[in-house]
Amino acid sequence: MPEGDSLHRAARRLQVLVGERVAVETPHPRAAAERVAERLDGRTLEAVEAVGKNLLLSFEGGLVLRSHLRMSGRWQVVERGRARRGKPWLVLSGADREAVLWNGPVLELSTRAASRLGPDILAGPPDLASMVANLRREPGGRELGDALLDQRLVAGIGNVWKAEALWRARLSPWLRLDSVEDEELERVLGEAATLMRASVEGVREARSVYRKAGRPCRRCGTPIRSRGQGDDNRTAYWCPSCQPAR
Ligand SMILES: [Zn+2]
Repeated sequence: MPEGDSLHRAARRLQVLVGERVAVETPHPRAAAERVAERLDGRTLEAVEAVGKNLLLSFEGGLVLRSHLRMSGRWQVVERGRARRGKPWLVLSGADREAVLWNGPVLELSTRAASRLGPDILAGPPDLASMVANLRREPGGRELGDALLDQRLVAGIGNVWKAEALWRARLSPWLRLDSVEDEELERVLGEAATLMRASVEGVREARSVYRKAGRPCRRCGTPIRSRGQGDDNRTAYWCPSCQPAR
């Protein structure tokens, strides 16, 4: 399963193609429907970076291909023209090597502006209204704890501060976005901003839920629970009493 660090490893492997003009094919029929090959073929690959759960491939002309690996996607770099079995989603061929994406269920092409990060949680002051607006544009069934880690929506919140901010805001990480009010979103974002700002300034505060599974909640004494969440299976920590399901 692709975790953040495996995305970073994939980004590193793909660096061998950066600076090369690449031939682009989309052998998988579902990938072909995105018309990615027509738009990218023959362009120079300018950069590859892992951002959040995504690999962003920037091409000459300001086009950015976002590859989200979900559970099963995998990038491979091999010698050009090596025989393969099956239909990969995408093949980027340089002079000597090619990058092959297998089972990559999300491929999205955009201009550079659209693929940038969300507002920075550590900005002074953070633009909470834009963050709420970004969260509102996500599918209503997406879980709050998962969405808070999506760097396209809000840049900078990691798993620790997500867990701590949700506990302070008394919101379960498992709530669907469509069951959460705007002011609740603003509250949890505000808590994250406050906690993270304090941390940057060197304030050390004991954690309330992060890595406290099985220990009593500091507010109510109920044992803290933990479980993997989202495509990256990041561990969520929460108090089932203070942060109830709806
Ligand atoms: Zn509690």
